Amino acid sequence: MELGKYSFGIGDRFNHEGEAQLSALITATYEGVEVTPVWNKSNREHNIVHSEPAGTRKEADAAVKNLGWEGPYFVDADHINLSNVDRFIEYCDFFTLDVAMYIGNESPEKEILEFKNSCAGLGTGVTIPGIAEPIVITDDLLNTVARNYLAAVKEAGKIYRHIEEIKGKGNFVTEVSMDEVETPQTPVELFFILKMMADEKIPAQTIAPKFTGRFNKGVDYVGDTNQFAREFEQDVLVIDYAVKEFGLPEDLKLSVHSGSDKFTIYPIMAEIIKKYDKGIHVKTAGTTWLEEVIGLSISGDEGLAAAKNIYKNALERKEELCGPYADVIDIDDSKLPSPAEVDSWDGEKFANTLRHIPGHPDYNSNFRQLIHVGYKVAAEMGDTYTGLLKKNAEVVGICVEENIYERHLKRLFDL
Ligand SMILES: [Zn+2]
Repeated sequence: MELGKYSFGIGDRFNHEGEAQLSALITATYEGVEVTPVWNKSNREHNIVHSEPAGTRKEADAAVKNLGWEGPYFVDADHINLSNVDRFIEYCDFFTLDVAMYIGNESPEKEILEFKNSCAGLGTGVTIPGIAEPIVITDDLLNTVARNYLAAVKEAGKIYRHIEEIKGKGNFVTEVSMDEVETPQTPVELFFILKMMADEKIPAQTIAPKFTGRFNKGVDYVGDTNQFAREFEQDVLVIDYAVKEFGLPEDLKLSVHSGSDKFTIYPIMAEIIKKYDKGIHVKTAGTTWLEEVIGLSISGDEGLAAAKNIYKNALERKEELCGPYADVIDIDDSKLPSPAEVDSWDGEKFANTLRHIPGHPDYNSNFRQLIHVGYKVAAEMGDTYTGLLKKNAEVVGICVEENIYERHLKRLFDL
């Protein structure tokens, strides 16, 4: 299945913003850059919101039909594994095989030996065009990469074959993800991971490694941008080489699980993919949910009261809500406003505090991260919350669309 050179993951927790999200991508197409929409939602999100993959499919199909989108589009079973993939199979045509938790698992000696033997053809070193340092192949290096990644890639093979058996070969897009771990994978490690994927005959079209730096939810990148740029460029070159040498799908590209809003590194990625004429997939998740809260806060008294309630509740239940996201948020408690202070705000002040405009005097990334993980509170509000979304669909939709187009797509695709 053709994913397209550029694709963009639009997560939507409550399935109400499909059209607003797609509108942003339609604008990009008008401006000359075709970007394939991919509605991604993970098992974790479905469990927290009590939604089902059928809902995401329904939302995507309806948005595409209502806006007359004629390009490809996908529904992504994001971060799935063998234990939960069945729930998604009927409704999805993009599968993100998350094998991060198998990194470092033991492999049978026989499999390690097979892998090492299969590397004999690489000789004593590999020079990848564009990368000055060659990869020096030693027994030690092969042992280390096998011990770290072989079990994970074998697991990806199992999940892939399970999906293929049901959906049929070529009827879905496969992504392999290893991003939800502490330690980044180096370009050399990526090289061997791709080799293992080819051996395992996984026709991946996207690969999501863990990049250097912190990808906290809903806020900007934190880390060494020079190092990120160097590694990202080398990853692009490694993929190009691996496609040719190992016979992986020609359109294989990097997938960046951005956690949303990595504005600082968007132009860096844009420049590198342009330089080598390569594609990219970028996933976002909670950025649309945050725009819903922003939209409600400026929609009038009822919406503002609901937005304030969500914050107050999230503050009271901070530990519980942050738990599942411990590795990807960094909240400085001393910078969180008190409920009394927030109560005194008007809609404009609330929206400006939450909206991600770097350098805006009211913008507070701590406030933003807390509300980011607070979607469980909105889910518990049930019809009260979704009723407000329906009632204020226009103002919320404008926020959602503007955010994706102005703040994300423009920076990513140099529009
Ligand atoms: Zn991810």
